[in-house]
Amino acid sequence: MYNPASLKSEEFIDHEEIQSTLEYAQANCENVEMIDQIIEKARLAKGLTHREASVLMACEMPNKLEEIYKLAAQIKNDFYGNRIVMFAPLYLSNYCVNGCVYCPYHAKNKHIARKKLTQAEIVKEVTALQDMGHKRLAIELGEDPVRNTMEYILESIKTIYSIKHKNGEIRRVNINIAATTVEDYRKLKDAGIGTYILFQETYHKKSYEQLHPTGPKHNYAYHTEAVDRAMEGGIDDVGLGVLFGLELYKYEFAGLLMHAEHLEAVHGVGPHTISVPRIKRADDIDPSVFDNGIDDETFAKICALIRISVPYTGMIISTRESQSVRERVLPLGISQVSGASRTSVGGYCEPEPADESSEQFDVSDKRTLDEVVRWLMAQGHIPSFCTACYREGRTGDRFMTLLKNGQISNCCHPNALMTLKEYLMDYASEETREIGEKLIQAEIANIKSDKVRDICAHNLEAIGTGSRDFRF
Ligand code: SAM
Repeated sequence: MYNPASLKSEEFIDHEEIQSTLEYAQANCENVEMIDQIIEKARLAKGLTHREASVLMACEMPNKLEEIYKLAAQIKNDFYGNRIVMFAPLYLSNYCVNGCVYCPYHAKNKHIARKKLTQAEIVKEVTALQDMGHKRLAIELGEDPVRNTMEYILESIKTIYSIKHKNGEIRRVNINIAATTVEDYRKLKDAGIGTYILFQETYHKKSYEQLHPTGPKHNYAYHTEAVDRAMEGGIDDVGLGVLFGLELYKYEFAGLLMHAEHLEAVHGVGPHTISVPRIKRADDIDPSVFDNGIDDETFAKICALIRISVPYTGMIISTRESQSVRERVLPLGISQVSGASRTSVGGYCEPEPADESSEQFDVSDKRTLDEVVRWLMAQGHIPSFCTACYREGRTGDRFMTLLKNGQISNCCHPNALMTLKEYLMDYASEETREIGEKLIQAEIANIKSDKVRDICAHNLEAIGTGSRDFRF
């Protein structure tokens, strides 16, 4: 039955295959010889199969875990350098017809304030985001075919791209919306979206159906096959994720990697990103009622193993996680973080009164973008506001090829420095600017090509005197 190249969800996410993978992994969790072989294979940075990775997931030997964490950090550094891409979510509407039991947007929730931004309100929200310094957004909506129509979404994307406020502009809009049709995905592609993100929530079909008892999202196959339709509709970059806490994490981990293998097998390119959300407290949602919550150490292990299993896939961590958890997992392979996020509809302009909350979940990291940027630099990372790959057509397999042969850093590293410089000039506090300028000076010397270094240095100077939006 198991067939990664099949287009049927139950064949590429085959339950029997996951069960037998977990049994195999458990049986070999102390098989030092096998574990060493798998770690050696991971060192080649060409990835691991779901079976191999699951053996490492089952392994609990502290010395082997230490090796895995070190390797994850090294792979992150080799492929993504010390850059961390910044983004923010923008909630457009929390109307939803689904019945997802972990999400406060579920249709039966009469308590949460329902909101949908008008185009004028979007202008205000985006202006507030631009004033913080954001250049990349992930737009978020509940599923409501009547209120949150594709026309509304397309109009909103157009509005977002059109807003130019002071030196601000949104240069990349990613989108996280419910599974839809090939035709709709094609429209999103034509509207200029970056990544289409869809969390699987859980790969366990039976649990999936119980956790999504009503609404269009109940259909496991339609949801699980959605990113294939997105790729068929021309979207090159897709983002996967599971909501950790719903099902057993080892099951989810195997499923996630099988999904990545499926995309490779069918489309010749794996997921652009993987997100690792954990369930959070929300309006009428108590995360403790879900039995499969994972502790911070297990969470770190998942991040490290994703990093070494799919080295070419970016990994995203949101403000669902606290500063300390983010600090723990950043060096294990995270390549994108959100900053200063609001999960309410309209939350960037005005704080909501407590009894009128439209929030999707509690945010743990409540720092300002300036604080997050400064903190990242203090940890030795370069906060990057770069959006160049997508704007230069470096998407899908073109992007992956450049990443795999290491050439991407010729673009990403100088682009990170130039967009950080823009941020420092336009939005940073004095303290952040000082730290950032020193970091940029130190990092220019690390640009290997003389030509690229010269152009970058020239552009950085020009940014200092008011020019904007240079990119390789
Ligand atoms: N409505 C879209 C869909 O059905 O895929 C996606 C948008 S939703 C705003 C984004 C994600 O938030 C969901 O896919 C889910 O994983 C996550 N989410 C929902 N409830 C959550 C909670 N209580 N805590 C943390 N994340 C949650």
